[in-house]
Amino acid sequence: MYPEGVNASARGLSHKILAIAESATLKVDAKAKALKAQGRPVISFAAGEPDFPTPAHVVDAALEAVKNPANHRYTPAAGLAPLKQAIADKTARDSGWAIDPSQVVVTNGGKQAVYQAFQALLNEGDEVIVPTPFWTTYPEVISLAGGVPVEIFAGADQDYKVTVEQLEAARTPHTKVLLFVSPSNPTGAVFDAEETRAIGQWALDNDIWVIADEIYQNLVYDMGVDHALSIAEAVPGLKDKCILVNGVAKTYAMTGWRLGWMVGPADAIKAAANLQSHLSSNVSNISQLAALAALEGDQSAATQMRNAFDTRRHSIVEGLNAIDGVFCPTPQGAFYVYPDVRGLLGKTWAGRAATTSLELADIILDECEVAAVPGEAFGPSGYLRFSYALGDDDLAEGIARLQAFFAS
Ligand code: GLU
Repeated sequence: MYPEGVNASARGLSHKILAIAESATLKVDAKAKALKAQGRPVISFAAGEPDFPTPAHVVDAALEAVKNPANHRYTPAAGLAPLKQAIADKTARDSGWAIDPSQVVVTNGGKQAVYQAFQALLNEGDEVIVPTPFWTTYPEVISLAGGVPVEIFAGADQDYKVTVEQLEAARTPHTKVLLFVSPSNPTGAVFDAEETRAIGQWALDNDIWVIADEIYQNLVYDMGVDHALSIAEAVPGLKDKCILVNGVAKTYAMTGWRLGWMVGPADAIKAAANLQSHLSSNVSNISQLAALAALEGDQSAATQMRNAFDTRRHSIVEGLNAIDGVFCPTPQGAFYVYPDVRGLLGKTWAGRAATTSLELADIILDECEVAAVPGEAFGPSGYLRFSYALGDDDLAEGIARLQAFFAS
């Protein structure tokens, strides 16, 4: 921070970097954790972070890895060979795309994969269609790569899913990439097979690249399958112009291990790997070998976590919909709900006016000690994002506090 009164841009810092806002999801999470550390009984629905520990066999693999001196050294920037093979196998299994391990780059979390994917594809002025609500990081990363995010909003009335008609209306001669996220962060919406196929076909017909963030791929409910349909599987013709982003963070409760990846056509992957060789080199070997155990080992812990999220999903949807002025659709994926809270705005709560969801989020944090991320972080005002990847008791207590507060 600068001394008060000193204008940051006047000090000659990068305009590109000064234009970036701090990640809202991480900011709200940090604020909630800081209040908790001060002894305040805050319940945080803020960060998308499973409350479970990483499965024991994964931790054991990491303990073994740390003892091997080979893992104390630099390894290839794009990732360890056995992990790249395991990722290729997973991509074939869950995304229906048979790739060669050379088409994989292992990254420091899915976030770095998103960053590198846009860096690899975009030139100054290229437009990227960003279905909205969007995860808070996407537009910043697109702008950093010289691109122009084009937001298309889909509200609760359409289950937060954009249509081909909306995409077509937003298409211009500068449209280079479509960002496709199913299951979605922040809404939990999942595009069904027909919708996925129609959107993928539209991209193919218009020669538009697709970057598909599949980090929540294995967290789907009520669909009779254990993964969402990948756009690469739905429209195989896309494979020359499609990058998939994924990682172990959400499925295996491994957010802190920072292990993600990107897969795609050889030239785009080579470009991203070159970038990574200058940016960060290899991901920690310990995390890579832990991820290998997660992908190839026993999946029962992952299944149990998924089932726990499913139960919580029902309680949170029911609990939020019981509040007058809240409309919460039932999402089919990820571990977020995205209630429309416009019915609570324009009113006074505990003597404080709430005209925006940003103000509403502040009010509930101060008055109920409940943290949620305001819709402004993901697009228009009028919504709150709740992650239900927190413990059952906390979830029940947090919702009870909100119900009591808004009933008063
Ligand atoms: N993706 C998670 C979220 O949306 C983690 C926080 C972040 O990196 O933004 O909460």
